[in-house]
Amino acid sequence: MLQQRTLKSLTRAVGVGLHSGQRVELTLRPAQPDTGIVFRRVDLPQPVDIPISATAVTDTRLASTISHGGAKVHTVEHLMSACAGLGLDNLYVDITAEEVPILDGSAASFVYLLQSAGIALQNAPKRFIRVIKPVEVREGEGKNAKWARLDPYHGYKLSFEIEFDHPAVNATGQRVEFDFGSGQYAREIARARTFGFTRDVEMMRANGLALGGGLDNAIVMDDVKVLNADGLRYSDEFVKHKILDAIGDLYLVGKPLLAAYSAYRSGHAMNNQLLRALLARPDAYEIVDFEHRSQAPQGFAEPAPAW
Ligand SMILES: [Zn+2]
Repeated sequence: MLQQRTLKSLTRAVGVGLHSGQRVELTLRPAQPDTGIVFRRVDLPQPVDIPISATAVTDTRLASTISHGGAKVHTVEHLMSACAGLGLDNLYVDITAEEVPILDGSAASFVYLLQSAGIALQNAPKRFIRVIKPVEVREGEGKNAKWARLDPYHGYKLSFEIEFDHPAVNATGQRVEFDFGSGQYAREIARARTFGFTRDVEMMRANGLALGGGLDNAIVMDDVKVLNADGLRYSDEFVKHKILDAIGDLYLVGKPLLAAYSAYRSGHAMNNQLLRALLARPDAYEIVDFEHRSQAPQGFAEPAPAW
């Protein structure tokens, strides 16, 4: 049987929120089979649990925000991406403020934290959402078009295309494909950092956003070039970060997808619309598990080593 996964032990991180600039402590704890991933605002007078789901996403401006009963957690996508990358099904995320710490702006710090705590196999079948009919969401026409879609695929692969007219971005790839079955998430995707432009940062700060952002947790560009002294971590780091985000946004559905995701200029809002469009079409998906590991798509029996 392909088993569910949680952590072996708890682990902690301290950082600041990208937008709030607020100091925040995160405690990642093991959870029982079939718990799913549950954020818990432990700083509130009465702690509030916020289980992940497509409909828990209530705000997608700049980052993905989930909420429940008036309590919120902003910027969950990089941590969710790391959880997807390591195949974690069950986890408690205790958090002391309303935004996940940005750490280094990628998912690599979360991957490191989760791997350091160790991954435990649980005695329950791991369940997937298998897409069996295409689902697409689309907005705008011609140059302004944006779309995202899911097609049936025995495995999970993603392709993403951006269209940023900026010299630093034009000089790198604007399209990337990644197959989850390759087992290369931690190496090829997780280290891609979020990015921003100095001209936007000033406007965002004036609006109380990006207060925790800087050169140590984002790629920052002026009108012509990257300002980070060490340059880029991947030659196509920009579009790879968009795939990292999409992996995190899509994992908010609560189970790993078996599908081919493709997107053109999509973002947090459209990724969530795609999940909602999928769930609105019960004929377009089914929940499956794998009694024998050999039935699982290649690379899925071991998304990350468990020990
Ligand atoms: Zn991001």
